[in-house]
Amino acid sequence: MTNLDQLKLLLDSPKNILITSHANPDGDAVGSSLALYHYLITLGHRVNVIMPTEMPDFLDFMPGYDKIWIYEKQHDSCVRIVEKADIIFALDYNHFNRTEQMEAILSGAKAYKVMIDHHMEPSDFPSAILWRTSASSTCELIYDFFELMNALDKVPLEAYETMFVGILTDTGSFQYSTSPRLFRIVADLTERGLNTNIISDMVANSYTYKRFRLMGYSIYERLELLEEINTGIVVLTQEDHKIYNIQRGDLEGIVNFILRIRQIRCAVLVTERKDRVKLSFRSKGNFSVQDICTKYFNGGGHFNASGGQSKVNLSETMKTLKELLMTEYKMALSE
Ligand code: 5GP
Ligand code: MN
Repeated sequence: MTNLDQLKLLLDSPKNILITSHANPDGDAVGSSLALYHYLITLGHRVNVIMPTEMPDFLDFMPGYDKIWIYEKQHDSCVRIVEKADIIFALDYNHFNRTEQMEAILSGAKAYKVMIDHHMEPSDFPSAILWRTSASSTCELIYDFFELMNALDKVPLEAYETMFVGILTDTGSFQYSTSPRLFRIVADLTERGLNTNIISDMVANSYTYKRFRLMGYSIYERLELLEEINTGIVVLTQEDHKIYNIQRGDLEGIVNFILRIRQIRCAVLVTERKDRVKLSFRSKGNFSVQDICTKYFNGGGHFNASGGQSKVNLSETMKTLKELLMTEYKMALSE
């Protein structure tokens, strides 16, 4: 980690600390933020957590979930918190544009900025950085941070619980991005009192009836298989959003589910939003979806899991997407 000693010195006396993560926060965003929150309050700091947009409901069992501010809903309070912050942590993202409406205020903030992240191509805004793309999750990096702070014995159990949520969601329950180090970390957390069974149940078996039906509809009615290039695409329109009353978190898991088909190497979920079309990519093996997102969809993420967006309408976007997959990426996908 860069500038660790400087950060340690700052954390020696009580500070106003703000923890932020990316828009449409997932288990890793919320898990890492809450883990750091639970630790920093034990040191006597005044700590606030702000997410740019609402969080998935299924994460509401996490200790501290209710304390999180939502910028798009609580704008004025959030602005005051940002302005008062001495230290701002940026977790699970590495460019302020991932915070959408918060981009300007965070870029302009005078606070000391710390980035803890595992996505590719970080920007250079922070004063201190803990960044490693080989980490399964930002929650894994939070463990590294506690270790660097010599704090593992002092961190409250709640922090370990929320870290485990992020590890589970970012690895698809240990299907990908795993490493010997990750398993050692989880073993250590269990020795420190973490009950993995309870948390795994809360994360995996958390569908609402509505979300479960939407999953069925997406697979049965909306999945297009491009068998020649081992690709599956689910498209959800504005109409679908109305019919299924789709809310944040309801789409979680759909794109990953497409990968359950043995031959599929690339899966895409395309959702028509009010102001843009959002694309969510997953892949298996050595096909990089990060490449296509960075080059063509103003996005990025990881080699096997990335996202992006398109400003042209749904049918134009679909045309471009299929053309790209069938030309530039055809060889790699049909291998
Ligand atoms: P998801 O498909 O679940 O939204 O995101 C998959 C991965 O891609 C996550 O690691 C997420 O941070 C990243 N990602 C999703 N959307 C975007 C985007 O618009 N821009 C960038 N740079 N990364 C994204
Ligand atoms: Mn993550």
